[in-house]
Amino acid sequence: MKPPVLRCRHVAKRYGKFTALEDLNLEVYEGEIFALLGPNGAGKSTLIHCITGLAKQSQGSIEVLGFDTIDDFRTTRRLVGLVPQEINYDPFFTPLESLTIQMGLMGVKPNRERAESLLRTFALDDKRDAYTRTLSGGMKRRLLVAKALVHEPRLLFLDEPTAGVDVELRRELWQEVEELRQAGTTIVLTTHYIEEAEKLADRIGILHKGELLLVESRGSLMERHGGRSLEEIYLELIQKADGRPAA
Ligand code: ADP
Ligand code: MG
Repeated sequence: MKPPVLRCRHVAKRYGKFTALEDLNLEVYEGEIFALLGPNGAGKSTLIHCITGLAKQSQGSIEVLGFDTIDDFRTTRRLVGLVPQEINYDPFFTPLESLTIQMGLMGVKPNRERAESLLRTFALDDKRDAYTRTLSGGMKRRLLVAKALVHEPRLLFLDEPTAGVDVELRRELWQEVEELRQAGTTIVLTTHYIEEAEKLADRIGILHKGELLLVESRGSLMERHGGRSLEEIYLELIQKADGRPAA
């Protein structure tokens, strides 16, 4: 049997005395869209950072396609892509330059044709030679997605890619995500728009104070809670975990 694309075993992350993740176990399989939901501060970004090499877990192991993210870091960083939660950009580079520089950083040969093709995919071709700082928020975010794809990652993380993004762009972005999945990319996303996860995700994980409350296929989760929306199911779980009465 093929190893899962992602396997987290007993992962914990501590910042001093604060525990951001506790004994987290999770597998994500090839070709799926996995939505990681949870309130602010639940540890979603922390987990994504541990997997993508921006942070190091305090305990436990993480494997991407069977490679350990610490021992085989060079391999795993080529296998994963990250669209970070915070928009970051190089104000004095153009989108075209940003993409070719990113190729160099990711250890792939800078390829202008591929960069141009990515810009077309994300409707940035007419901005390819503009200073990135002159782009609108939505364009900057699309550039972040394009940057995350330069090395054709097998596993793509989208950390709240639609926060503050207008409806139209959100729809476009999800269209892209679907297309990437069709092309064989495995996708892990976090979002505050739970109805998006309800539409897109094959499986859903709910993280709360560093612990996974639930991991289940969307179908079985929705069936178990016959007729209710994912948002209602989500809220009830979080309120229960907080020891609050359901609203
Ligand atoms: P989420 O992405 O689910 O909103 P985060 O993973 O960003 O949550 O944060 C989880 C918890 O870890 C928060 O309480 C946050 O303040 C804390 N945290 C995250 N990064 C650091 C850090 N570098 N140093 C100390 N605490 C951190
Ligand atoms: Mg976050």
